[in-house]
Amino acid sequence: MPELPEVETTRRGVEPWVVGRTLKTTRTYQSSLRWPIEAPKALHGANINGVYRRGKYLLFGLDLGDDHDNGTLIVHLGMSGSLRVLAVDTPRLKHDHFELVVSGPRKSKSAQEDKLIRLNDPRRFGCVLYQSGNDPKVHPLLAHLGVEPLGNEFSGEYLFQLSRRRKLAVKNFIMDSKIVVGVGNIYAAESLFQAGIRPTVPAGKVTRQAYEDLSQRIRGVLADAIRQGGTTLRDFVGSDGKPGYFKQSLYVYGREGEPCQVCATRLKGVNIGNRSSVYCPTCQRHSSFQPPI
Ligand SMILES: [Zn+2]
Repeated sequence: MPELPEVETTRRGVEPWVVGRTLKTTRTYQSSLRWPIEAPKALHGANINGVYRRGKYLLFGLDLGDDHDNGTLIVHLGMSGSLRVLAVDTPRLKHDHFELVVSGPRKSKSAQEDKLIRLNDPRRFGCVLYQSGNDPKVHPLLAHLGVEPLGNEFSGEYLFQLSRRRKLAVKNFIMDSKIVVGVGNIYAAESLFQAGIRPTVPAGKVTRQAYEDLSQRIRGVLADAIRQGGTTLRDFVGSDGKPGYFKQSLYVYGREGEPCQVCATRLKGVNIGNRSSVYCPTCQRHSSFQPPI
């Protein structure tokens, strides 16, 4: 599943091909993904003024000219989606459901430089939605999102304050997108290991100091994954590459029953909510244990 790092890598891969260019047209091959695709004809001819990310949503900023409101195409990759930059004559593959056709550079003499930004989504849990106006964050899907984990508002103090008296497991707390966006199962499991915090501890019991460390670990694991994704950027262009779902060196995620790489204790699996979670009973002892690494 594309997580925040994959979405950010997608944003960086697509950005140079679309910003400052004209959205010539859109083509919809499958009327509905998670919801019906929204790509009004009024967008054709708009200038694309930026590609942003909010949580795991990609936002294509559109300038429709003086007489019209600006707007934003909101794209989510769902469980299995990917966006690719392709030549205009690239044959469609199964599960290619939607595409933007963007013009070549403004001063280009050659129409051949037009490109497709094509969405492939086998499981169709993704979405393409439209929000008019200058502020896409008023969209119902975006309005209630928590802070960005790599942004300035996210900190140990922020987690500490919001977690007081909360009884839910700390792992579910940091995976709650109303608190902080984009901390998926892998990143939650790994950052809790690095911080020495047991994933089942009630969020309200985790100390200020432990949250301070945890917030840094969360930033660290996400930044590492994005850095790794950078090496896959070229794969966004052309039809033969595979968009990166990054393989990372993991301490606990997916390693139930294996020995801990720090202390050799057998890693334990536990269900928290509906998610499986793996932790080291020795390294992740308490809510404020000395971090193992
Ligand atoms: Zn251990």
